[in-house]
Parts: sequence; C-alpha cells; structure tokens
Amino acid sequence: MSARVIVAGAGPVGLTAALALAQAGVAVTLVEKRAALNTASKASTFHPPTIEILDRMGVADVLHDKGQRVERTQYRTAQDGVFAEFALDLLADDTPFPLRIHLEQSRLTPIMLAHLTRHPAAEIRFDTEAIGVESTESSVTLVVQGPRGVERIEGAYLIAADGARSQVRTALGIAFDGTEYGHRVLRLMTDEDLTRRLPGLAPISYLHNGNKSASFLKMPDCWRIILRVPAEVDDSAALDEAWILDRLREAWPGWDRVPHTIHKDVFGASRRLAATFRSGRAVLAGDAAHLTNTRGGMNMNAGIHDSDAIARAVAEALRAGDPDIVARAADARHRIAAELLIPRTDRTVMGGLDWLAHIRKTAADPIAARAYLLTSAMLDMVARPAMAVSP
Ligand SMILES: Cc1cc2nc3c(=O)[nH]c(=O)nc-3n(C[C@H](O)[C@H](O)[C@H](O)COP(=O)(O)OP(=O)(O)OC[C@H]3O[C@@H](n4cnc5c(N)ncnc54)[C@H](O)[C@@H]3O)c2cc1C
Repeated sequence: MSARVIVAGAGPVGLTAALALAQAGVAVTLVEKRAALNTASKASTFHPPTIEILDRMGVADVLHDKGQRVERTQYRTAQDGVFAEFALDLLADDTPFPLRIHLEQSRLTPIMLAHLTRHPAAEIRFDTEAIGVESTESSVTLVVQGPRGVERIEGAYLIAADGARSQVRTALGIAFDGTEYGHRVLRLMTDEDLTRRLPGLAPISYLHNGNKSASFLKMPDCWRIILRVPAEVDDSAALDEAWILDRLREAWPGWDRVPHTIHKDVFGASRRLAATFRSGRAVLAGDAAHLTNTRGGMNMNAGIHDSDAIARAVAEALRAGDPDIVARAADARHRIAAELLIPRTDRTVMGGLDWLAHIRKTAADPIAARAYLLTSAMLDMVARPAMAVSP
C-alpha cells in the first residue's frame, strides 16, 4: 500500500493540507485542475486560530507584513453613533495573536505554494482534474485527467479540498444539502478614506439603522463596503450607482454620494453541509465540506482548521496504522461545522434589534465581551496546543 496522501484542489484549504502533511514528513501529491492558482478576490479575514496554524507552518509573515491589523470590532447606529466596541486584546491570554488580519486569500496561497514547491516530500500537478475515486479498505485511488491523459493515483488517504462544486464529493455520493440565504451580497471597494465620513470607523464596523445595515472592512489598500441585495433585485440593478446610494443612505442618511469605486461585484450566499466528511479513505475539507455566509468571515478559516486537524490525524494514523484516527478527526470537524460554524454565522446574519441590544450589553461587560470574542474569533472551534505562559 502507498503511504502517499493525495490532496485535490490547490485553494487555501488544499494547500494547508498538503503543506502540513509534507512538513510532517508525509509524501503528498496535490492535484489542481487550473493551470495556476486562483487569483480571484475572495476571503479577506484571518482569525487568531488560523494565524496560529499558518504561523506554525512558517507562512504567516505575509499576513503580518502586508495585512491590515484589526484590533477592534465596532457597531454603530445611524442615530447614536458607536454603541459597542470590542477590543481584541481582551484575548491576550487566549492566543498569541489577539487580533484579526485582513488580506486577500490570493496573497497567501502563492506563499504556501512556494513553500510546498521547495519541499522534497511534495509533488504538485497543475492542469490535473480529479474526475473519480476508487476505494478499497486500505487505500484510495484518485482518477485524474491531466496533460498525460487519464491516470490513477493511489494513496493511503485522499483529502478533497476541491471547492464547493467538489467532484470528489459527488463521486463519493455524499449529499451536500442546504439552502440559499434570503439575500445576495454586494461588495464595493473604495480607495477613499472612509474615516473622513465616519470618524473613528474601526477596520471592521457594522452600521445599523433599524433593520437596514452596511458593513465596512478595511483592507491594506482600500475599504470594502458590504451591502445586502434582496432576492428580487437582479445583479445589474444592484450594481447601479443610484441603487447603492439608496442602500447606503438607508444605513446612514449622511451619504451625499457613493464613495469612489475601484471595484464592485455581487455574489450569492448559501449554507450547505456535507452529510458526512468522510467515505472510506477519503476526507472532505473546506468548501467541499461546508459553505456559509461570508458575514463573520469564517468559512475559509474553518476550512484551514479542517485541513490542519485532518492532516495531523492522517500523519498520526500512518504512524500508528490506525485509520480510525482520521475518521474521528473528520467526524469532529463535521460536528464543529454543524453545531458551531453554520449556526453562529446564521445568528450573525439574522441581526435584529434583540441582537443589537445583546451586543450593546455584552460590549459593556469585559467578561461577557471576552466570551463573545472567543466565539467570534473562532477560538472555540479548534483544538489548540496550550498557550505558553510567559514568566
Ligand atoms: C467574495 C467572497 C468573500 C469571502 N470572504 C471570506 C472571508 O472573509 N473569510 C472566510 O473565511 N471566507 C470567506 N469566503 C469563503 C472563502 O473564499 C472560501 O471558503 C475558500 O476559498 C475555500 O477554500 P477551499 O480551498 O476550500 O476552496 P477554493 O478556494 O474554492 O479552492 C478549491 C480549488 O480546487 C480546485 N478544483 C476544483 N475542482 C477540482 C477538481 N475536480 N480537481 C482538482 N482541482 C479542483 C479549484 O480550481 C480551486 O483551486 C469568501 C468567499 C467569497 C466568494
């Protein structure tokens, strides 16, 4: 039996799995259907446990050097201004990185690939699409279509990180049920300094006016404004300047015009969960396993956590000759997605006056605020090494 592990998909999740395995001394083959890494603008938020994982892997410098540090989360209303603010340094005893970092995921993935490329245990094949899976009790074979035609790659385990439309998941016959959120999401990137219009605006801020809201996210080179697009408004209508201005004014009437726009787009949002994260020697991770709203910025982070946990379990299972170690890790990640990731994101998306009252009360009490931050920073969603206590 081959001790090689196969990873399908070179997004942030597949790259984490492949690099973690290579660094654990496991021979790994990573297949990616594209000719090169995806450079699209997608995830932008790195939460503390994710920074810890990337730091352990030696690839976090780009986050610290190029990313936007976020040390406070802010809530405002049009009427009262700032009504709640959370300082992330309340987490100083819980993580070496009590902050979030904003950076495009496409700034991190090339660094991970460069590390992987230099690793003697890793083989990377671009232009190679996973098209089928064959399993036995003790091995798994990924069928791929690439420059050399159709091939079969045999491994001891397969980690499927081939995204939301995962062909591996389909080949394994694993259901991916769920529903769409009742809105789509509009992102507007501006190179204007929004703190001139909204003094004191924190790098992640939520502005509410009744049941209307807008989110503001500071990136290293721009602000992102996030608005909701109701199902009945089509994309072209939502991208219209007048429509955007109306939505901005609903959240805060002081807008005189739409900020200078360098990019805008609309994307759909759905919540989906694979019925199981494993089948035989194959394990699902990242978007192949779970999808949720981008509010709270958790799905990629959870995918990186999946890969870290599963790669460690695979390395351990190979050493111990015990595949149950991988099964338990996959089931634990499934529980986290079902019981924490998706419900927590849904709660944040739902908002509402009760939620805002809860946020106001929580921010005013440092103990409750720390408990809230532990969950919004996803620190309860990972099994982490105990933090070293400085003398
Ligand atoms: C606009 C937007 C904003 C977002 N913001 C956030 C955020 O702030 N925080 C957050 O945590 N998440 C966010 N997300 C979600 C995040 O981008 C995804 O969760 C993340 O990209 C998932 O990574 P992945 O590696 O699982 O999948 P992907 O990034 O989709 O990567 C999958 C890879 O597999 C490859 N592939 C596909 N099929 C095959 C095949 N058959 N064979 C081989 N390779 C294949 C693809 O080409 C791709 O390279 C956002 C998403 C969007 C769209």
